[in-house]
Amino acid sequence: MRPFAHFAPGSLDEAVEIFRREGEGGRPLAGGTDLVVQLKEGGHKFPYPRYLVSLRRLPELRALEWRDGQGLLLGAGLTMAEVARAEAVRGRYSALADGAGLVGSLQTMNMATVGGNVCNAAPSADTAPPLLALEASARIVGPEGERLVPLEEFWLGPGQTALRHGEVLVEFLLPPPMPRSASIYRRHTPRQQMDIAVVGVAVAVALDEAGRTLRKVRIALGAVAPTPVRARRAEAALEGQAPTDEAIARAAALAREEARPISDLRGSASFRRHLVGVMTERLLREAIERARRG
Ligand SMILES: Cc1cc2nc3c(=O)[nH]c(=O)nc-3n(C[C@H](O)[C@H](O)[C@H](O)COP(=O)(O)OP(=O)(O)OC[C@H]3O[C@@H](n4cnc5c(N)ncnc54)[C@H](O)[C@@H]3O)c2cc1C
Repeated sequence: MRPFAHFAPGSLDEAVEIFRREGEGGRPLAGGTDLVVQLKEGGHKFPYPRYLVSLRRLPELRALEWRDGQGLLLGAGLTMAEVARAEAVRGRYSALADGAGLVGSLQTMNMATVGGNVCNAAPSADTAPPLLALEASARIVGPEGERLVPLEEFWLGPGQTALRHGEVLVEFLLPPPMPRSASIYRRHTPRQQMDIAVVGVAVAVALDEAGRTLRKVRIALGAVAPTPVRARRAEAALEGQAPTDEAIARAAALAREEARPISDLRGSASFRRHLVGVMTERLLREAIERARRG
């Protein structure tokens, strides 16, 4: 690793002030499970930073708060282990608990943060499809002030985000789930653990009161496009419909068409497309069943 300065502020204001004062060439550091590896590799993905600003001591990034009518505030600095075991997440946003619970080993889960996973912007990031399907927004604070960005607008490409210099992703806002709803995330990997998703699929569904019609459907795909993406045509084909076998199969076929995968050493584009169809169909069935049970 080449030398860099390291700052460890104790508040968000202090962190932003460091970015303002020091200027270009700085980077936030959370758990370091992506960033430190990239620095050791020489920092090919971005210009080598002149300084790092640690986010570890910032209390503002540690929120885990349910607000009636607003939903869940989830701090970007929470670790995967904290997210995966949080009752507020497991009960109402289980797709996110599924994703966080898959990241690396126990050691990785105790270091890696949910904010770092999102800001690293890998198309295969395991919390990205759940957060997309759950319609999360990111609250961002930086030298120019504060803004709220829907996650769909957050990723611009592999390793590229909407963050500007000195901006910190502080927390996610997850809207309250609808009644009779359920969400699930699964990924396909050749190995059961310590592997990166060949395909990741998250679905979130809500049924009407009688349990006969799908009021809302969200399908998000990971590792099959330059960024995590929603399968909007598949969602639209199911919303307002009875969840019949035919309707679910049609939606899964549309999701397969919406994926834009590449071939790499983990799998060919056609294998990935096939997986999207199979996984979407299975997860929709499972989520609908769970939503029915309430
Ligand atoms: C052994 C191992 C196994 C792994 N397995 C998986 C896996 O199964 N699934 C998976 O998805 N990932 C996996 N990863 C990748 C990694 O653990 C995750 O992406 C992790 O969540 C990154 O979080 P972090 O806190 O370590 O981020 P860091 O490495 O500290 O930062 C990552 C990037 O995000 C930026 N950043 C971090 N936090 C913020 C913030 N709040 N605001 C603005 N910018 C920020 C940093 O500047 C940096 O560019 C693995 C990594 C390792 C080393």
